[in-house]
Amino acid sequence: MKLFTVGPVEMFERTLKLKSEQLPYFRTDEFSKMMLKADGQLKYIVDASENSKTIYLTASGTGAMEATVMNCFNQQDKLLVINGGGFGERFEKICKIHRIEYTAIEVPLEKDLTEEMLLPYENCGYTGLLVNVHETSIGKLYDIAMLGKFCKRNNIFLVVDAISSLFIDAISMKEHCIDALIFSSQKALSLSPGMAGVVLSEQIIVERVLTNEVRSMYFDFKDYIVNFERGQTPFTPCVGTFIEYSDMIQVICDAGIAKIVEDKKRLANQFREELKKQGFGVPQYTMSNGLTPVYLDNAYEFYLKLKENYNLVVTPNGGALRDKVIRIGHMGNLDSCDYCYLLECMLKIRQE
Ligand SMILES: *Cc1c(COP(=O)(O)O)cnc(C)c1O
Repeated sequence: MKLFTVGPVEMFERTLKLKSEQLPYFRTDEFSKMMLKADGQLKYIVDASENSKTIYLTASGTGAMEATVMNCFNQQDKLLVINGGGFGERFEKICKIHRIEYTAIEVPLEKDLTEEMLLPYENCGYTGLLVNVHETSIGKLYDIAMLGKFCKRNNIFLVVDAISSLFIDAISMKEHCIDALIFSSQKALSLSPGMAGVVLSEQIIVERVLTNEVRSMYFDFKDYIVNFERGQTPFTPCVGTFIEYSDMIQVICDAGIAKIVEDKKRLANQFREELKKQGFGVPQYTMSNGLTPVYLDNAYEFYLKLKENYNLVVTPNGGALRDKVIRIGHMGNLDSCDYCYLLECMLKIRQE
């Protein structure tokens, strides 16, 4: 079985080996040191400013999305939410539940987000902007540089859910003026699920996180900040996933994030070219290096055939896109041979 999904994804041998080992006790110097080292490497990879801090949660990515909104904003805020699909909708839902005022900017399905779409919201007193930089439900990548500039000139906090984008698309906290950058373990990091993190800028920590009253015990970032001074978390973390994380971050540092992103971009582009040559439809909008949607008649049936006849698992869709699109992931331990074989199988199914 091979996974062309967006999380969990096809894992690397070294991670599978780590997964098979006995977990250590974690309130130790060794564990603390491991986490502090990994965190330093993460901040280098995401180009975080010097006094930024990372919150490590044991939660899925959505937990980190919700916790970030709860810790960074309150009922005095007025937010913008970029909504171009299922994950944008999730940010809207979080705002509603926590009674935070927001305006949704809806991005039409076939279009990229443009400066023009942001124009009506300049100088309107907004205090934060929430975006899923890669809207995974449709594989669309937004222009983070444009959003960064918009937030900077409007003095707005920029919160980026980069869960399906970090470590596979280029992103820089400093260059793109990002105040909160959310990631999780089971996407491009190719690890077990369970760990989600948020890197916070010094400004959002000082002006928001340290003073905001959070009506939650488990998700109050203040405790996490104090504990992580010594490389610990307030509560028991998913110890195994943290160990996998420290190993993978080292691998990424050794290879260089720019090279990893470049390689994935090449892999995704090659596959897209081959698809087009064979007459498969792919979107016109800007895509993440992490995912290629393919337009198909009877898409869900196509997904089932790939799985049942060839042991290849791509990502199906729910809702309105169920029978129109399958999504093919480029995260994890996959190389160009895997895509050649996948395409071969897709052609066979189409000819049936
Ligand atoms: C996967 C994903 C999430 C998190 O989903 P969980 O199931 O909670 O891990 C959040 N945002 C985006 C854009 C994602 O792709």
